[in-house]
Amino acid sequence: LEYEPVHVRSLLASIFEVLASSAKSHSIVLMMEVPDELYMEADEDRLRQIFMNLLSNAISYTLEGGRVKVSVETVGEGEDENIRFLISDTGIGIPKKDLPRIFERFYRVDKARSRSSGGTGLGLSIVKHLVELHHGTVRVESKTGQGTTFILDLPLLHELN
Ligand code: ATP
Ligand code: MG
Repeated sequence: LEYEPVHVRSLLASIFEVLASSAKSHSIVLMMEVPDELYMEADEDRLRQIFMNLLSNAISYTLEGGRVKVSVETVGEGEDENIRFLISDTGIGIPKKDLPRIFERFYRVDKARSRSSGGTGLGLSIVKHLVELHHGTVRVESKTGQGTTFILDLPLLHELN
């Protein structure tokens, strides 16, 4: 990984720009609650890929008129300070029985339920891999018919050598 200081809000804004037309065509509102002064150390290209996957999923698996939101909070202190991203949607949700397998390669929930039929089932396995390269964690909470939240914890700072 190539760590560099990343201005979180600018990165997310540029990703929102790319996704704006697909969100708009499904009447899905994109929202972000991120302080302007927030920087973190990360590999910006990899971080972009993480958000691209999570946000394009959130849009794909949310019905017309829904909402997709990214918010951020810090957890822990000092060297253990983490930045926690919550990527939430008001979408179709993930059935409880599928939740443990959602990060496996090629795993997809029965596609009859989703709006989009495409997809290879690789997106989340890539997300998990890239998050682990950053020494972070990713987990999911979901309720069928109500929505899904991905909780992404990443170290704010990395030991630069
Ligand atoms: P792709 O490789 O193009 O990303 P995919 O979206 O099917 O294909 P993943 O991104 O790995 O694959 O997601 C795996 C499965 O998890 C999806 O097929 C979908 O069933 C479910 N899923 C992922 N994100 C969400 C979400 N936000 N809401 C509901 N279901 C989701
Ligand atoms: Mg996907």
